[in-house]
Amino acid sequence: MEKIIDNSRIEEYLKKAAAPDTIELNEILSHARELKGISFKEAERLLLVESAEGIDRLAETANFIKEAIYGKRLVLFAPLYVSNMCNNECLYCGFRKSNKAISRNTLTMEEIGKETEALINQGHKRILLVSGEGLGKSALDYTIDAINTIYAVKIPKGNIRRINVNIAAMEVEHYIKLNAAKIGTYQLFQETYHEQTYRQMHKSGPKSDYEYHLGAMDRAMEGGISDVGVGILFGLTDYKYEIIALLQHIKHLEDKFGVGPHTISVPRLEPATGSDIASNPPYPVTDSDFRKIIAILRITVPYTGMILSTRENASMRREALHLGISQISAGSKSDPGGYTKKEHSDAQFSLGDHRSLAEVIEDIVDLDHIPSFCTGCYRLGRVGKDFMDLAKPGLIKAHCYPNAIFTFTEYLEDFANDRLKEKGYALIERTIKESIAGLNLEASVRKNIQAVKDGKRDLYF
Ligand code: SAM
Ligand code: SF4
Repeated sequence: MEKIIDNSRIEEYLKKAAAPDTIELNEILSHARELKGISFKEAERLLLVESAEGIDRLAETANFIKEAIYGKRLVLFAPLYVSNMCNNECLYCGFRKSNKAISRNTLTMEEIGKETEALINQGHKRILLVSGEGLGKSALDYTIDAINTIYAVKIPKGNIRRINVNIAAMEVEHYIKLNAAKIGTYQLFQETYHEQTYRQMHKSGPKSDYEYHLGAMDRAMEGGISDVGVGILFGLTDYKYEIIALLQHIKHLEDKFGVGPHTISVPRLEPATGSDIASNPPYPVTDSDFRKIIAILRITVPYTGMILSTRENASMRREALHLGISQISAGSKSDPGGYTKKEHSDAQFSLGDHRSLAEVIEDIVDLDHIPSFCTGCYRLGRVGKDFMDLAKPGLIKAHCYPNAIFTFTEYLEDFANDRLKEKGYALIERTIKESIAGLNLEASVRKNIQAVKDGKRDLYF
């Protein structure tokens, strides 16, 4: 297999390169403001910016790009953990095989149905199905049954319209089957691109094979999955190394398949039962580093979604919104059965944001952003390269804004209290005036809002 990560080039660069001076920084940031992304070489230069003033300028530029391309909207989802059985020894994870401190559980289809109902009754429309790697040969069949079970739940408060999946690396033939089950994005985090660190962190089990794990996105795309989601678990090694390697991975996928990942997830290590590494990360990423990471990714790949989970606390999540995060999870539980049971002792790691979906939504509205449950692109087949072709000329707003408004109107009608309804409709009105009016869509947007108020559901452009 062609080498995806050029380790020696990254190490050489980080050893020798100096931070960009003001002239170089100005040049890169004005290039970024053209909204076409910057070269990966330029991104490598930004990684070396260390001054507080320089990082503020990265944040301002990221915010400019985020507002221009995405506007004020934020997509919401919830993870659904179906099994915490695992045959791997990822040293940072509460689900690792040798951890005796948690009880193991794989949900039955009936339990998955109940969890799905609980999520729908909160207002969710998008789920990320998550599992440990402990189900052996039946793992794929089980996952496909779970997907079918989730999609089949249709109750008065609605149904799940998109299931993204975060499960272990597989063979191409397995990805073909997974794709046929109508998943949205297939996510798999590399955790660390640094091979030596990877081997230290993944002592045994199928995930300990660095090359196999790194090749998963190639196999997923060869298996026909158009939207793949990559991620780094920050804290395992130098974040600068990780970002340069991530960009090499993206370049490899772009060169080979004509399109890079649909999303990038940016989890930071959180404490997990019995894991020293999770509590004391070898390379802790400070809040300031974390802001810089998000800003640089937004500047470099402006059309790739960026996902932040409830690992982060509410204040970091608020800040990250302005730096270009486009999706967040909300009201999450990271233990199988977590949405229907009262005790939560079997979680994968501890969460930083325990607020309910309703609380998160009100906060987003107070931050002047439209909470979105949109699944339009996926439903209309605007995926992979087609999505990027649509996104790149700046058309995200013309679709995402209206669809965010329609799904938020559904939420307001079906789940919101009077206070949120008042705030929510005022925000929709402002958004139409400030952002939709110039798009020549106002009449059709208003027509659809009225249709949702009259009882129609699942409208999108
Ligand atoms: N088992 C599959 C795998 O490992 O790829 C998929 C699901 S795994 C439960 C999802 C992700 O949780 C992992 O990829 C890892 O990045 C993240 N994770 C594990 N332990 C964590 C911790 N202590 N803090 C934050 N994230 C963690
Ligand atoms: Fe298992 Fe995934 Fe946790 Fe590793 S990260 S122990 S593979 S659940």
